[in-house]
Amino acid sequence: MKNYTTLSSIQADLKAGTITCHDLVRDYIYKIETNKHLNAFLEVYTDEALHLAKELDKKLQAGTAGKLAGMVIAMKDVICHKDHRVSASSKLIENFTSLYSATVVERLLAEDAIIIGRTNCDEFAMGSSNENSAFGPVLNPHDNSKVPGGSSGGSTAAVAAGLCLAALGTDTGGSIRQPSSFCGVVGFKPTYGRVSRYGLLAYASSFDQIGPITHSIADAALILEVIAGKDNYDSTASSKEVPSYSTKLNYSGKAKIGYISECINNPHLDSEIATHLKNLIKKLQDEGHTVEAVSFPFLEYMVPTYYVLTTAEASSNLSRYGGVIYGRRSSNATDINSIYVKSRTEGFGEEVKRRIMLGTFVLSAGYYDAYYSKAQKVRRILQDKTLEILKSYDFILLPTTPKTAFAIDSVHDPVTMYLEDIFTVQANLTGLPAISIPMGKHTNGLPFGIQLIGNKFEEANLLAFSNYLYPTK
Ligand code: GLN
Repeated sequence: MKNYTTLSSIQADLKAGTITCHDLVRDYIYKIETNKHLNAFLEVYTDEALHLAKELDKKLQAGTAGKLAGMVIAMKDVICHKDHRVSASSKLIENFTSLYSATVVERLLAEDAIIIGRTNCDEFAMGSSNENSAFGPVLNPHDNSKVPGGSSGGSTAAVAAGLCLAALGTDTGGSIRQPSSFCGVVGFKPTYGRVSRYGLLAYASSFDQIGPITHSIADAALILEVIAGKDNYDSTASSKEVPSYSTKLNYSGKAKIGYISECINNPHLDSEIATHLKNLIKKLQDEGHTVEAVSFPFLEYMVPTYYVLTTAEASSNLSRYGGVIYGRRSSNATDINSIYVKSRTEGFGEEVKRRIMLGTFVLSAGYYDAYYSKAQKVRRILQDKTLEILKSYDFILLPTTPKTAFAIDSVHDPVTMYLEDIFTVQANLTGLPAISIPMGKHTNGLPFGIQLIGNKFEEANLLAFSNYLYPTK
């Protein structure tokens, strides 16, 4: 079967009768089986997906299929799906079965997407390389000695290797965009509040967003318009109307783009990626767009602010996993106190424990003002300064990652790993929508993306301009 990269090409073949949904799902399952070494999936819903595909073929015949018919999609293992396991790639809740579905899952199913399985990720979405999964690292399909990025590494590797057409990931500090850049696919983080977080296992609630990982901008737009919108189960989900992004992908105007000189001229940015960005700037200027340097001398505050605030939120969110109400209970526990201590000690991995301790520390009475409140104030400044740029520009252009994918087991220092997020956390600290678009291949053979940040709730404009840069074929 063809390696499909858009839903429209699948739907055209379904309509022409050259394939069925059943064929399509069988083919994806075969590809998952033959690419098991990537470790992208934690579970594949073989029988269920084949059954749903058969049912969908009947609906297609009857003309009653939803708009995502033919969309075979994977879920990052932090998104609840009723009667399916969700483990956050953690031993602590390895065998937990969801009692209800996330709103995004309900909405995808209502439009007849087929969920093919759940994908590996960093434990509780904490990481930039997928090496923090309790179930082993994911390999980058472009070079199996490299990481796929994280934390949605299983999702991006699965899409890049053609094991499914699309996936959902989550992005708290770059977890959709960074692995998308490393794997050569499109990764979109919506505005905070655009997509309901109901049924998402929370990492840092004032940052988390769910978003699509796809081959094409058209599919990202389509998935977003299905999953976005008001939700009575999540009061942070905006009631703003959801435009039909997928029908608004023609960008005809001239854009005003600001690029952050501190990012593009950053000494830690790979020189080929920098050259590529500079060539892109020149090309856009030649095409009549306004592309200007803007100064943002706050880059060094981004990662520390992000890690103080997200670890604080994580320490609170993860306090529920105590082995009492649900989750793995230690068999060595002897009393109530040791149930909590031993279950958490045995169940959580090293990085999750580090973050819980860091977050508890910054929230503790003696250090709250020095770290947590200070970081909140810095967040506000970073927000204000970023919004100021977006008053004069439609988009901010920047790299997605400082380098291409690094080797598995090569980064051991946590702070070095945290600095991987240098260009992605700005969109989360500010709640702005952002996208990583695959824009080239490095001479080392690995893909890399470039990043655009848009104005709040201006997803339509951001997707349309992205489609101009990276037209859907
Ligand atoms: N790499 C970042 C972190 O480890 C981002 C994670 C994410 O977006 N979920 O926190």
